[in-house]
Amino acid sequence: MNATLLRNGRIINNGQDFSGDVLLFNGVVAEISNTSITQNDCTTIDCQGCIISPGLIDIHVHFREPSSGKHEETTETGIASAVNGGFTTVCTMPNTIPAIDTSKMVESAIKLANQNGQCRVLPTACATIGRQGETIAPIDAIVSAGAIAITDDGDVVENDEMMSAVLAHCAKNNVPFMQHCQDPKTTIGGVMNAGKIQQELGLGPWPRSAEESIIARDIRLNKPIGAKWHAQHLSSGGSVDLIRKAKANNQPISGEASPHHLLLTDEACRDLGTMAKMNPPLREQHDINLIKEGIADGTIEILATDHAPHPLHTKNMPFDKASFGIVGLDCALALYAKALIDDGVLDWASMLAMMTRNPATLINRPELGSLAVGNRADITIIDPNLTWTIDSQIFASTARNCPFDGWKVKGKAIATIYSGVLTSQCLSDRINHCNTA
Ligand SMILES: [Zn+2]
Repeated sequence: MNATLLRNGRIINNGQDFSGDVLLFNGVVAEISNTSITQNDCTTIDCQGCIISPGLIDIHVHFREPSSGKHEETTETGIASAVNGGFTTVCTMPNTIPAIDTSKMVESAIKLANQNGQCRVLPTACATIGRQGETIAPIDAIVSAGAIAITDDGDVVENDEMMSAVLAHCAKNNVPFMQHCQDPKTTIGGVMNAGKIQQELGLGPWPRSAEESIIARDIRLNKPIGAKWHAQHLSSGGSVDLIRKAKANNQPISGEASPHHLLLTDEACRDLGTMAKMNPPLREQHDINLIKEGIADGTIEILATDHAPHPLHTKNMPFDKASFGIVGLDCALALYAKALIDDGVLDWASMLAMMTRNPATLINRPELGSLAVGNRADITIIDPNLTWTIDSQIFASTARNCPFDGWKVKGKAIATIYSGVLTSQCLSDRINHCNTA
């Protein structure tokens, strides 16, 4: 007997929002009810005051394995960070060293992740060999091997003909393409948002047009192809309207927003230095406002961290030489809540859809984004009112490159359940083992 009863929670699932119990049995969801479930001989978790959600999904993480030794994060520590943050499924980016661009490498990435057994790791694979943009990767074979999406993340696919060929292969294999929208011609030497603060600091400019021009180009190229096309880590307000218009024309387009692009502006580059150095860069308040408008009206449907762990010595450098990026998984949920719920943009139900159902739909794994009888029991229990202070020193990730240290936030995953097994919990007084109902 391997039963767990989640008692008396607020069940937010697939457009529904009600109070009740969820019973897990042998790794799958056995019953969901708006009344009390009776079950003998089980572990019970008291979910009073908490949300019971399908397990959180992050479609954009970097786990750095294989690596040249430059990075400390591994698949194992990345998974620990995901579990700590309440995530049960993550999609890893292929810009490892070497890059994941063959079916064999996809197979080894899956094998490595499965050894851990604490979180579902779905690798993406490259669009072009070595992410060099010159030779198309064997997309048919890497999708057959299990790659969940195609991307050269970290770099754009720059050449128009290559991009069209990649999109055609993605459409044929019914797999999404995820674009890192950065025109390299307009970002040479660019390290932060082109604007007043960049001029004040005397750093290289990175204009909004670098992102917007790629989105506009890809929408044009994809029109006759119709592949599932997804814009990663949106930073510019102007990008939102491009996506909005393409969606209005029924193009299969989507976009993601990241915690840092919702909460920080380019002023953080002056105040926090390299901890605020991001790719794409932090923009201005009006960009944040437009991205939030896009989230509120459903133009942007997915939240993703771009979890980019870096050893601190690569951040403790002059701004133009330091690494780009931010560690994300441990504290993402509370940061999204701060940006979107505290600000009245969304309620918990609509925000969690952006972390469960919507990303699951994009990657063609809808069963991962909803609780249903018979589905694997991937569940996140969230206390929406728990207040805490972000402290990167206690992150499960090896990395500490976090500009949110010391922020007071509200909302935390208090238990992560993967395939029916409790992989993390922070409130053990809610757990009971009973022999009778
Ligand atoms: Zn990227």
